[in-house]
Amino acid sequence: MDRKTLVRAAFLEKIGSAPSENVPLSAMSSFGIGGPADLFFEARTEDELEKAVSLAAAEKYPFYVIGGGNNLLFDDAGYRGLILRNRLEGVVREGHRLRVLSGTGLPCVLREALAAGLSGLEFLAGIPGTVGGAVYGNAGAYGWSIGDVLESADLFFPSGERRAAPRESLGFGYRDSALKRGGGIVLSTVLMCSPGDSRESEARIRDTLEKRRAKHPPLGTACAGSYFKNSCSASGARIAAGKLLEEAGARGRSVGDAAVSDVHCNFIVNMGNARAQDVLRLGEELKDLVFRAFGIRLEEEVVHLRADASML
Ligand SMILES: Cc1cc2nc3c(=O)[nH]c(=O)nc-3n(C[C@H](O)[C@H](O)[C@H](O)COP(=O)(O)OP(=O)(O)OC[C@H]3O[C@@H](n4cnc5c(N)ncnc54)[C@H](O)[C@@H]3O)c2cc1C
Repeated sequence: MDRKTLVRAAFLEKIGSAPSENVPLSAMSSFGIGGPADLFFEARTEDELEKAVSLAAAEKYPFYVIGGGNNLLFDDAGYRGLILRNRLEGVVREGHRLRVLSGTGLPCVLREALAAGLSGLEFLAGIPGTVGGAVYGNAGAYGWSIGDVLESADLFFPSGERRAAPRESLGFGYRDSALKRGGGIVLSTVLMCSPGDSRESEARIRDTLEKRRAKHPPLGTACAGSYFKNSCSASGARIAAGKLLEEAGARGRSVGDAAVSDVHCNFIVNMGNARAQDVLRLGEELKDLVFRAFGIRLEEEVVHLRADASML
């Protein structure tokens, strides 16, 4: 039996259903780009996700956990292993806190906070994706990031270990967390809120969405949000990557069907049939432009998942 067949058989035995084969990753990504994954499985409970990770680890079969695919560039060759899509969804209120399963969408968390009369999460308005993906990249906007409101996270490791991690241990920085350095898979989080006025929260959310509408490509544009992180100046202040790109002459640039958005230069958009190679080449060209103009090296915010990567 080949390893793929072995893994499918182990899933059937231990979880009761087998991963699908040759699933196009373009359908799992807001970029609409990516070849087939050898195996693909949606985990809907913590038990399923833990078992799926443990089974892949026991077989030494490459695997990778994704959320909503809003910050990922899948490879044209797809993925030689198992893609685990996190569908653990649910929010429970505990006083001024929300206990949130990691596959819950950020819009859903925001709705639950509003319904419970809790404030503090309004900055998440308009950011697509799951809580797990947001913790991984410390997602945020307008001066706030999810790490600022996270009290703790329950993590799971391919070794089978499960651990509660307080915020201090998660190494949050600008669009960064310890999870990027092999720090485990988020199962759930506790988010801190404060008692608020729903009308005020709604007004703040509307304001945030309006600002985003004015500055970002229209909703539904095939992209993965900001392609590069904002850069750090010598004084430690953040310089918007979009501004650097604009001034360096990025506007109008494209490679194949991958193009710089004409609304915001830090968004690379898929105009129809862009390949990952087109996006990567355009990204390199843009980095060169900014380096030649300002001596600043931009760093990608979007994660390129290579076909042979693994969380093992
Ligand atoms: C239109 C648009 C606007 C955006 N605006 C913003 C913005 O304002 N601010 C911002 O910060 N981002 C923004 N983004 C990027 C994106 O929404 C965030 O990065 C989001 O947090 C990604 O979540 P996801 O579930 O889609 O993660 P995915 O794209 O699925 O995964 C991203 C990374 O997180 C890891 N990951 C996912 N789930 C887990 C888990 N449970 N445990 C451990 N690791 C995990 C994956 O392995 C992968 O490396 C935008 C994207 C789009 C398309």
